[in-house]
Amino acid sequence: MKLTCDFCYRMCEIEEGSRGYCGIRECREGEIITVHYGYLLAAAVDPIEKKPMYHFCPGDKTLSAALFGCNYTCSFCQNHDISQRTSPLFPASRKQLRGECTSPRQLVSRMDECGVSIMSYTYSDPVVWQDYMLDTARLVHEQGGLNCMVTNGSFSAQSLERVLPLIDGINIDVKGDEQFYQTYCKAELSPVLRAVEACARRPGTVLEVTTLLIEGIHTLEEVRAMGQLLFNAGVQVWHLSRFFPHYRMEDRRSTSEAYLDEAIEVAGECRIPYVYGGNSTNPEHSITRCPTCGTQVITRRGYYVRVQRELQHSMLMNMCTGCGERIYGKFR
Ligand code: SF4
Repeated sequence: MKLTCDFCYRMCEIEEGSRGYCGIRECREGEIITVHYGYLLAAAVDPIEKKPMYHFCPGDKTLSAALFGCNYTCSFCQNHDISQRTSPLFPASRKQLRGECTSPRQLVSRMDECGVSIMSYTYSDPVVWQDYMLDTARLVHEQGGLNCMVTNGSFSAQSLERVLPLIDGINIDVKGDEQFYQTYCKAELSPVLRAVEACARRPGTVLEVTTLLIEGIHTLEEVRAMGQLLFNAGVQVWHLSRFFPHYRMEDRRSTSEAYLDEAIEVAGECRIPYVYGGNSTNPEHSITRCPTCGTQVITRRGYYVRVQRELQHSMLMNMCTGCGERIYGKFR
């Protein structure tokens, strides 16, 4: 008998003793389990800006946690050592995992020790270890904290419904058009767009989208088409991030600052109110301006963040003092 995993859009049907596409979910003794549940590969304090999240509690720190695994096989993966099945770390079985299992309660207790109130699920893709993420996220909410998820957005309809009520801030990668997903990720764009639309519609969820801009692959016309798609989906924050050679794309050159500038200009024409450049040395690309009057409300240098002092009070109410326009996001 086969059981169905509904963690992502692939909806794998798994036989006893086998695993799904991601290699992380296994059918064992009549149930599907996450083989490395609780075996943390990373738990470190980061600025929330590193996710990147620019409109979700700017200037705050977060405890970032990751287990192994992903359901994509992107040839440009920046974290392939902890996400890909080809990694020597790939856990063939629970017995082969080194280290101690960390329960969700133990992980949440570290938030107090680290002095943070945001837990982030990141680095690999939490979609494939969402049982551990949700068990943790419930406890985080119980103690008044916030949850942030960084993901490829490849939810199934069922998992999207399950996950979203517990996630306060989410960054979804939109990597390219359908052809790009098929060629470089062996995946599909449509489930990602469904997730983006659902997050954009959901009151109280802060959504930001990231695209790794690969010069020579993503043309400016494609950037424009993506921008229009994202605008129609209700996206307000879009990070275009420079590509650097990595993993199976080591032979490609880095995306230049000049190309990033051009892409940001094109993206700005798509009416998305907040467009940022990532992996860039240009501080202009990380400034938050009021989309209506242009008042500079947040400046960033690296991960150092400054919310304009005179605007702090009104920012708590998501308002620009320059014109009263609503600034998207969660500020505190
Ligand atoms: S998480 Fe996705 S890829 Fe992995 S077993 Fe479940 S449905 Fe398949």
